[in-house]
Amino acid sequence: MRKKIVAGNWKMNKTYEQGLQLASEVVNMVQDEVPSDVVVVLNPPFVHLTSIRKLIPASATNLFLGAQNCHYQASGAYTGEVSAEILKSIPVDYTIIGHSERREYFQETNAQLAKKVDLLLANQITPLFCCGESLDIRESGTEIAFVCNQLTESLFHLSAEDFAKVVIAYEPIWAIGTGRTATSQQAQAMHAALRAHLATHYGQTLADDTSILYGGSCNPGNAPELFACPDVDGGLIGGASLKSRDFTDICKSF
Ligand code: PEP
Repeated sequence: MRKKIVAGNWKMNKTYEQGLQLASEVVNMVQDEVPSDVVVVLNPPFVHLTSIRKLIPASATNLFLGAQNCHYQASGAYTGEVSAEILKSIPVDYTIIGHSERREYFQETNAQLAKKVDLLLANQITPLFCCGESLDIRESGTEIAFVCNQLTESLFHLSAEDFAKVVIAYEPIWAIGTGRTATSQQAQAMHAALRAHLATHYGQTLADDTSILYGGSCNPGNAPELFACPDVDGGLIGGASLKSRDFTDICKSF
C-alpha cells in the first residue's frame, strides 16, 4: 500500500547548532501532533546526520532520517563526496537523489542517477527520486513526456521487487523556491500521468502502491489541497521545512 510521506529538504541551510535545534523541535512536534500513518523524513546537511540520528527515538516509528545526495560510485578517490555505504553506516533511512538543483548545478544525468538508485538499494536505503520539468518544457507542452523519460532512464532497469522500494517526488522546477506552486490540477495531472507510465512497465498494482510526492513552494496554506489530490501522496518540502511549526503543520495536512 502506498504511504503518506512528508520529507523536509533543508538544502545548504542551518549551522550545526541550528540544525540540532530544528530537528529536536520537529521530533517533539511530530510525536505530539502528527498521525502515526504519516511518514516524516528529515534531510539535513551531511554533517548533521549523526547527531540528528541520536535525536530520533526508536519509539517514533514514523520519523526517519535522510541525506540529500550520495555519489554514483561505491567508494574511492572522489574528494568531498559521500557514498551510499557511508550513509548506511550512520544509518540513514532515505536519500534524496536527482534534485533539480543537483541536475542543474552539478550536471547530474539520468544515467548517473540510475547508478545512485542501485547503490542506495544495495545499502538498504530508500531512494527519494526527484523528477520535474523546467518552465520552457512546460510551456512547450512536452512536460509529461520529459518527466516520464526521467523515470524510464533512471528507474526502469530495476526489478519490480527493487522498484517497490523507491519513492518518487515530482518537483516542477518553476515551482521550487519561487513561491509559485503548481495548482492542484497541474499536480494531479502530472502525478496521474506518472502513475500510468509506471503501470505500463510495472503493472497497475505496483504503480498504485508507489508513493509520488509533490514538491515546489508547498506550505501549510496550500498543502491540504495538494495532498487531497488522489495521486499526490505527500510532499518534498524545501523552504517551509526550515520552520518547525510550518513543517509540522504540513505533515498534518492529509
Ligand atoms: C525542494 O527544493 O525540494 C523544494 C520543494 O523547495 P521549496 O519547497 O522551497 O520550493
